[in-house]
Amino acid sequence: MEDKLYLIKEGEISLKGGNRNLFEKQLRHNIKNKLRPYHSDITKQKGRLYARIPGDVPDDLIRKALSTTSGITGFARAYPAAKDIEAMKAKAAEILPLSDFPEGGTFRITVKREDKTFPMNSHEVACTLADTVFSLYPGMSVDLRNPQHTLTCEIRNDVYLYTSEEKGESGLPYATAGKGMLLLSGGIDSPVAGYMMAKRGMKLDAIYFHAYPYTSELALEKVKKLASIIAPYLGGLRLFVVPFTEGQVYIRDHGYEEESTLMFRAAMMQTAERIARAEDAKAIVTGEALSQVASQTLDAMSFTDSMTELLVLRPLVGMDKEDITEKARRIGSYETSILPYEDCCVVFSPRHPVTHPVKAVARKHFEELGMQGIIDEAVRNTEVFSFDPMGREICGE
Ligand code: ATP
Ligand code: MG
Repeated sequence: MEDKLYLIKEGEISLKGGNRNLFEKQLRHNIKNKLRPYHSDITKQKGRLYARIPGDVPDDLIRKALSTTSGITGFARAYPAAKDIEAMKAKAAEILPLSDFPEGGTFRITVKREDKTFPMNSHEVACTLADTVFSLYPGMSVDLRNPQHTLTCEIRNDVYLYTSEEKGESGLPYATAGKGMLLLSGGIDSPVAGYMMAKRGMKLDAIYFHAYPYTSELALEKVKKLASIIAPYLGGLRLFVVPFTEGQVYIRDHGYEEESTLMFRAAMMQTAERIARAEDAKAIVTGEALSQVASQTLDAMSFTDSMTELLVLRPLVGMDKEDITEKARRIGSYETSILPYEDCCVVFSPRHPVTHPVKAVARKHFEELGMQGIIDEAVRNTEVFSFDPMGREICGE
């Protein structure tokens, strides 16, 4: 079976002067990694990447791989033709019946003539290819502004034709901007937070605090499912599941009830920092948004920030729930996030949580709790699950 060829348009990375090579190299690596175990060959030509993929790889899989890889603005299955107008016409006649052109309606021909030595100009090539369309589908008409179908012909070192370009994620290739630890709960917000940071080039692993049996095994399954859903956007991830029942119960029994959420969050930060440092991560990422719940006031967030020396990033801080929900739907995490298994914060929530803690007081109370031993134990008993760049769980790790 013949290889499939995909033309890939790079996004923002084409702007990054000195770093450009590094970004491009990472993007190629990210694409190759997604298409494993298939052997794909990715080459580059001025502003374009070309992925040669074995013919037996299903189109759906390729589309999922490319549409979730940040740093790509668009991609299309492309067909090479010889650099000769007769060959280009023949190739157009061959691929149009495979496209959505047979549906009829309006179309345009877009010609990108990068190779200025080609004897015909763009307009002439466009008119010639339009004639090919008319000969096959006489009922169609041209609409340059708002066409229903587009046939693009790029004349560069080689000639490629394609009909259906799909939009990519844009952003920057993940794993070009250092590593972070995502605090992943079963809610709507944190998967979106991870997605957003990955799109800015961050490499992420995730941490989930599990309070079994107060939170059921189903809650853990739900978080694992969320990890697998966001994995393609993150280029794969490891999920650290921290058993935190003892910590929760200890806080409930030894702290002030109205401060329990704050104390839990402080313990979470310190535990996350321990795991982050061991994994060489420089930041903690959360799904908090200003004033969404009691622990997300400026005072509360400022307190939890002070419990770790790592940078705490909250990409959703200025977003409202509607915008977050829309993103969650788009990346496909929403339906899983709204499944009803409670996360541990809900089970242990105080009736009247402190919303405006005085930082020094809350810090003192946390210190008095003396949770270091419990945190050590939790870190020791942490279990790790791994997900590959297509979201499949990797067993036996
Ligand atoms: P989410 O929708 O992401 O669960 P939320 O609105 O329910 O967020 P909180 O429960 O207060 O808000 O949690 C705020 C953030 O703290 C979450 O977005 C997540 O990053 C982190 N977090 C909360 N609970 C856990 C947990 N059990 N394990 C890991 N991280 C958690
Ligand atoms: Mg939550």
